[in-house]
Amino acid sequence: MTPRRTAARCHDLAALDAAIVDCRSCRRLVDWRESVAATKRASYADEEYWGRPVPGFGDSHPGVLIVGLAPAAHGANRTGRVFTGDRSGDWLFASLHRVGFANQPESVSMTDRLRLSGARVTAAVRCAPPDNKPTTRERDTCAPWLMQEMALTDPRVIVALGGFAWQSVLRICAAGGEPVPRPRPRFGHGVEVAFGERILLGCFHPSQQNTFTGRLTEPMLDKVLARARDLAGEAAV
Ligand code: SF4
Repeated sequence: MTPRRTAARCHDLAALDAAIVDCRSCRRLVDWRESVAATKRASYADEEYWGRPVPGFGDSHPGVLIVGLAPAAHGANRTGRVFTGDRSGDWLFASLHRVGFANQPESVSMTDRLRLSGARVTAAVRCAPPDNKPTTRERDTCAPWLMQEMALTDPRVIVALGGFAWQSVLRICAAGGEPVPRPRPRFGHGVEVAFGERILLGCFHPSQQNTFTGRLTEPMLDKVLARARDLAGEAAV
């Protein structure tokens, strides 16, 4: 399956971010993200929701790129920063801090002075989908944004949070001519696959479905991110 063409090629991350936040290619997701932003959750009634696509966040030349599924309706779709404003993000950024990628353990808003060094966080799909389930067409329509982000940041190590991100990354790498193994490796927590200059690591998504049930624990998440850090040869901040 090939990623669908979404937009002209961007020559730097600032141009890419600007193009992403203006994207309206998926009618269903545009309608959903904007209706959630207009309706709001009662507890956030006083806040102005972002209600747009969410670009990546972190180091512009990271050794490690962490790829999630898509923004949460009342998380990144509210705050405008990936993985920010929901429990999944609380888990992820706390772990990034413990492992040495982040200067603080929390990501609260776009103005909270959080910095990542050696790592960047992004998502396979940039608009919040209903039920956290993008369609395959939406996934493929959005794939060129991640493809461009990967090309501009060129991370040696990619951590895929969940099977959706895993498949998206492998699809993009294959479409870009990278020597992805055949058959394509299956996702699993802690699975590590090297091809070309790239190393792909699998990690359970820090969704409440996984963290509440104990399927993913803090030590499990820390171990994968520390392994990614060591593989990329990044120094802690
Ligand atoms: Fe554009 Fe991606 Fe959002 Fe679709 S999901 S509208 S391609 S940013």
